[in-house]
Amino acid sequence: MKILTQLKKYSAELVDLHHTLALMQWDQEVRMPRRAAEGRAGQFATLSALVHRREVAPELGVLLVKAEAQKTSLSVEDRALLRVMRRSYDQNTKLPEEFVAEFSRLTSQAQMAWLEAREQSEFAIFQPLLERLVVMARQQAEYLGYAAHPYDALLDLYEEGLTTVQVEGMFAELQVPLVALVKRFSGRLPPLAFAEPFSQTGQEQFAEHLLVAMGFDFTRGCLTRSAHPFTTTLGHHDRRITNRYAPKSLDFIFGALHEGGHALYEQGIAEGLAHSHLDDGVSLGIHESQSRFWENVLGRSRPFWQRFFPELQQAFPAQFAHTGLEDFVRGINAVTPGLIRVDADELTYNLHVLIRFEIEKGLIEGSLEVAALPRVWREKYRQYLGVEVESDAVGVLQDIHWAHGSFGYFPTYTIGNLASAQIWEAYKKYDPGFCQTLADGNLAKVKEWLAREIHAHGSVYLPQELLVRVTGAPLSVGPFLAYLEEKFSALAG
Ligand code: MG
Repeated sequence: MKILTQLKKYSAELVDLHHTLALMQWDQEVRMPRRAAEGRAGQFATLSALVHRREVAPELGVLLVKAEAQKTSLSVEDRALLRVMRRSYDQNTKLPEEFVAEFSRLTSQAQMAWLEAREQSEFAIFQPLLERLVVMARQQAEYLGYAAHPYDALLDLYEEGLTTVQVEGMFAELQVPLVALVKRFSGRLPPLAFAEPFSQTGQEQFAEHLLVAMGFDFTRGCLTRSAHPFTTTLGHHDRRITNRYAPKSLDFIFGALHEGGHALYEQGIAEGLAHSHLDDGVSLGIHESQSRFWENVLGRSRPFWQRFFPELQQAFPAQFAHTGLEDFVRGINAVTPGLIRVDADELTYNLHVLIRFEIEKGLIEGSLEVAALPRVWREKYRQYLGVEVESDAVGVLQDIHWAHGSFGYFPTYTIGNLASAQIWEAYKKYDPGFCQTLADGNLAKVKEWLAREIHAHGSVYLPQELLVRVTGAPLSVGPFLAYLEEKFSALAG
């Protein structure tokens, strides 16, 4: 059999195994009974160890070397497959099997502890597991290796090549202008408040309606409920979204648009890349650019709601009969420094990320103890956002990421926000009549452009390379700050 055929077969097998793990994860967060937690943790440990064994098998190493010898004769896609598999092989061979199994078992237990800790607002329940997770994350960084800072090794897992110094530089450019914008627009756009609760069924139906309008294909995906909304892939034709529903909040709308943006990226990957390592978004930052594009750039814009607000009014007359379009659009963009990252407006959001970045960096370099987190969290929220953290549930326990063992993930949210504004500039050049396009509800036009320019390529191009291809420039903070300035000035009148 040809080397490349063998490599593709190997890729398909690993992808199958990862999708099986993803199914177990989806089940754990959506359907699994609580007392199944320990058994599931054991299943994760067993399967992860077996998958890891396949990922580090010497035969794969040999295949990669042989394929690399033929590199110059390969197509762009095949060279990309080789690059992605090489990167994954190198990362995996650095991690001992016992470490992978133990890390998997620990994160599974930690997620259950985190859920309970958050419910009871009691950091002490999560603390011992988080302490062990930090020790393991630091160990992971040592195994993976890094040039300047141990946190670099973890950042690179989510955004290839990203370094601590780059993230510090990005926030150094963002922080002062963001704080100034927050000061200018805080309290100037009246938030929406609802006396009447939204019915759960009504929320689900409207979320589904928006997803259909975006072009989410329900024959290749589904929508269910979970504590923390997410999107996952269980196969080329199986991209799943979860959402959450609160009685008096619009989370159901923005959660659906956000996760829908992630899912459209995945559903848009070319058929030719199916069942391979390339059948995936290229990085978390680019992935987040797609979710934020739909949630914020489109989903909090006036033209978008010109089309959908009448339908929202019709679906929920008790809540919206006496609200006008202008008040609604101002309301969904209200700038209010708050406690919860996922509820944050576009001006304060990246300050929430900055806090997590500083904490993670401290934990990984060893300058910050886990025991100090609730106190440090309170101090930073007071300092950067001017808010008092009333309890750990709405403070240090709000995010699931650390329970997943994910350190180095948060900065990709800010990268996504910056990239979404840069991609929007490129879209507006392509479609100067974008206001009318949105007001007409012609979301297919936007989706098709995104699919052609970004989605179809899966992981073929490196994230920076893709961004340059689409927007003509590498990632920078300028377009994002310009977008915020223009948008909020117009809204505040
Ligand atoms: Mg996201």
